[in-house]
Amino acid sequence: MENCLFCRIAAGEIPSRKVFEDDQIFAFEDIHPQAPVHILLIPKKHIPTLNDLTEEDRVLLGHLLLAASRIARERGLDSRGFRLNANCLESAGQSVFHVHFHLLGGRPFGWPPG
Ligand code: 5GP
Ligand code: ZN
Repeated sequence: MENCLFCRIAAGEIPSRKVFEDDQIFAFEDIHPQAPVHILLIPKKHIPTLNDLTEEDRVLLGHLLLAASRIARERGLDSRGFRLNANCLESAGQSVFHVHFHLLGGRPFGWPPG
């Protein structure tokens, strides 16, 4: 999608610190990290929010979660623990309207979230 920040990052039109890429997904460092590890994982397909997922996205989302698990392991977070977070709509903290998961680790996290 032309004017979507994350579509443009995935297309390489806007620079980012890439962590992983394949034909379906893209992972990159968050520009304002909230933890020692803060990686964003996105589908290359433009999906605005989690409300917009359809049955068609079943395999894609599984693929994204497997990548998150693999990256967490590569960063040594599998034994330390990590958080995988997705915000849906402004009230939950969503500011970029292209589905993404935050992979956060390297420090303790409180619960419930604010
Ligand atoms: P949200 O608030 O929608 O859940 O998360 C959006 C995330 O995107 C935020 O953590 C924010 O720091 C990150 N972000 C916003 N603009 C950019 C950018 O241009 N590059 C990168 N790498 N991250 C961004
Ligand atoms: Zn997009």
